Amino acid sequence: MKEKLTLMIPGPTPVPEKVLQALAKHPIGHRTPEFQEIVRQTTEMLKWLHQTKGDVLSITGSGTAAMEAGIINTLSHGDKVICGENGKFGERWVKVAKAYGLKVEVIKATWGKPLNPEEFKHILENDKDIRAVIITHSETSTGVINDLQKISNYVKTHPKAIMIADCVTSLGACNVPMDDWGIDVIASGSQKGYMMPPGLSFVAMSQKAWDANMESNLPKFYLDLSSYKKAGDKNSNPFTPGVNLYFALLEGLKMMQEEGLENIFNRHKRHKKATQEAIKAMGLSLFADENNSSPSITAISTKEIDAEIIRKSIKDDFDILLAGGQDHLKGKIFRIGHLGFVNDRDILTAISAIEATLNKLGKLKAPIGKGVAVASEILLKSL
Ligand SMILES: *Cc1c(COP(=O)(O)O)cnc(C)c1O
Repeated sequence: MKEKLTLMIPGPTPVPEKVLQALAKHPIGHRTPEFQEIVRQTTEMLKWLHQTKGDVLSITGSGTAAMEAGIINTLSHGDKVICGENGKFGERWVKVAKAYGLKVEVIKATWGKPLNPEEFKHILENDKDIRAVIITHSETSTGVINDLQKISNYVKTHPKAIMIADCVTSLGACNVPMDDWGIDVIASGSQKGYMMPPGLSFVAMSQKAWDANMESNLPKFYLDLSSYKKAGDKNSNPFTPGVNLYFALLEGLKMMQEEGLENIFNRHKRHKKATQEAIKAMGLSLFADENNSSPSITAISTKEIDAEIIRKSIKDDFDILLAGGQDHLKGKIFRIGHLGFVNDRDILTAISAIEATLNKLGKLKAPIGKGVAVASEILLKSL
């Protein structure tokens, strides 16, 4: 039943009906008081979500637009930066930084392992010219979470450096208190924790980031955040924004406020735990270490069988879309997204579909039903 496809990938994520209906409304003029009111409300709620008193600016574009905006609005040609790279999205940061002529020092970790904060500390202590530390908080390609709080703490003690973070799959899934942790730039995108379709991205800027902006000389026009700030102060946009996407954003953020941050974080924690334990109970192995695992995505290694066969079979038989591995991990892992508009039933359904599929393929190493039993036990008690 292809019409009933369930997305369990780490973006785009499922969209609630309220949000879909908001998208279907007639567009309104983006220079009207009605639209300004929507900008005002969504901006307030975005600050709530980021736990910041600073600015959160919305750009019509995908998450990468927000990443690029974060770099070009705070840095200058030839600036030295440190980029963390332990997956596909860390690689993207390196590419963006290099595209703008920055001098990039890359700190790597094997895909599936977290970045080591002490390596950042070491370079920061020995090089006072570093202008930015740039990392991915939740590395979607591997299901690893990096220690953003610790790395940000080291950056705070440096005279010049600012902390830039991709929080695309951590914001709205686990605690990311921007002001408390001293993060200067946070990039995120609408199709992840926001429970809405792709098309909007968000850049949060601290005062330190605006100070850096005064000196930044990298070329920019559409992504020039000072123009978003100027318009934003009047509850407006520099260009024509995705008007209907703003309708959706308003509904999505209202739903998030009704649930509350703590409840949202707990739901993601329970779903992660239920997924991880069920996967192990089925005799499969987790790709990322449980102590450093992302709240929104679980990657599973499949040693004896091509992961793509499992994924295709689950899509064909059960209409559930799971994500595959990227680059050298293609065929070696598959990934379950549990981000955004996901409930307990979705988790049980995904686990039972995986179990049934492994059984069909003759690769299930545990008694059938074990995964579902373990997951349901975790889901029925609160953490
Ligand atoms: C999805 C995602 C992005 C944004 O990708 P776009 O395709 O540009 O929206 C960036 N970083 C991470 C970690 C992601 O998961």
